[in-house]
Amino acid sequence: MKNIQAVRGMNDLLPEETPLWRHLEDTVRSVVEAYGFEEIRFPIVEKTELFKRTIGEVTDIVEKEMYTFDDRNGDSLTLRPEGTAGCVRAGIERGLLFNQVRRLWYAGPMFRHERPQKGRYRQFHQIGVEVFGLDGPDIDAELILMSARFWRLLGIEDVTLQLNSLGSAEARAAYRGTLVEYLKDHFELLDEEARRRLDSNPLRILDSKNPEMQAMIEAAPKLMEHLDAESQEHFAGLKAILDAAGVGYAINPRLVRGLDYYAKTVFEWVTDRLGAQGTVCAGGRYDGLVGQLGGKPTPAVGFAMGLERLVAMLQEGGVEPPSAAPHAYLMAMGEGGLPAAMALAERLRDANPALRLMTHCGGGGFKGQMKKADKSGARVALILGDEERANGTVTVKDLRGEGGQQSLEQGKLTDYLATLP
Ligand code: ATP
Ligand code: MG
Repeated sequence: MKNIQAVRGMNDLLPEETPLWRHLEDTVRSVVEAYGFEEIRFPIVEKTELFKRTIGEVTDIVEKEMYTFDDRNGDSLTLRPEGTAGCVRAGIERGLLFNQVRRLWYAGPMFRHERPQKGRYRQFHQIGVEVFGLDGPDIDAELILMSARFWRLLGIEDVTLQLNSLGSAEARAAYRGTLVEYLKDHFELLDEEARRRLDSNPLRILDSKNPEMQAMIEAAPKLMEHLDAESQEHFAGLKAILDAAGVGYAINPRLVRGLDYYAKTVFEWVTDRLGAQGTVCAGGRYDGLVGQLGGKPTPAVGFAMGLERLVAMLQEGGVEPPSAAPHAYLMAMGEGGLPAAMALAERLRDANPALRLMTHCGGGGFKGQMKKADKSGARVALILGDEERANGTVTVKDLRGEGGQQSLEQGKLTDYLATLP
């Protein structure tokens, strides 16, 4: 019979990979919590309508990437392709957003039916943050400063910040007219997708990756030159904070989102280390969304980062996660030694909850057990034989350094093990 395989584009993360994932997740979590963000968890499955309304009907995600199915009672449900929709839905439904400021973060798997390739999967993972109730450039800047701190702490170099402003909905509507006129003048250069979007979502045409359209897109009128006064001021405020903090950026007029509820700031952290899948973190302001979903109008800004791409950067940069190997591997020798060894192991764990101690299970002779001890990656083997039990000691054998061994009183083990890295 043929073995069952994982679904295409959905990865197992094996034990040799998870320490680096944990290092990334732990680092990000400690930073966001240090900035005062609180964690929120919401379901992996939501009503399909939610994503249609938040992400927009005329987007890659909703047009062709969603995992949508009918529930047994006929409701259309979708595996979440991103986190903002569920976060906003939960915020409105549970009264988190009303007349208050919220700084929230979330983490977890997302699902998009895309063509799997390096940096692009069908189940992937994001950590995202969303801030509700603040409309100034200060919080936009703080999100960017916080993300810059992730890269510093993780040792990720080679990422650059791209910035744009989408202006107000009104300024964008006016610009949209100018852009559509320009695109119509170059209709023969538009590919099929662009022609389809000309009416429904023309701004997204600027984001096209089709090489044959690049020159025409470069020459298109720029949204940045059509900003309303308030958005100009907001953008200047943001840049002033980034300049003062020494965070460099490049203005990218092609950084756009097509939908009306986006406003002002958009940004992406990009790298050229990952080939075509170069965006590791993308964010922006979506002041109109909460109101559009039925909540009281509430300004909002957030970002999401793709963990697969960040892990790839860590791997490429040779970043080593903190060791998760055991400090010690405990072996029992002699008739009836096992209960005493396991009792000793529990006492050692009681005394130091941070101790990583593996006990040998599965029997076997001294040589076989030593082999397992070595393979576990432990710093030392602890050997409890008949003689050691009789005189209350343990033989400690160094597995990594000189390979020497010594006899230690059991009562001194905890202090000794705490000295191991
Ligand atoms: P792209 O242009 O690469 O398709 P996107 O605009 O669809 O990205 P967002 O919806 O902004 O991406 O998601 C935020 C981040 O999540 C991306 O910058 C990326 O790091 C990551 N991401 C998005 N889709 C995938 C995927 N299919 N596989 C892995 N990571 C992804
Ligand atoms: Mg995409």
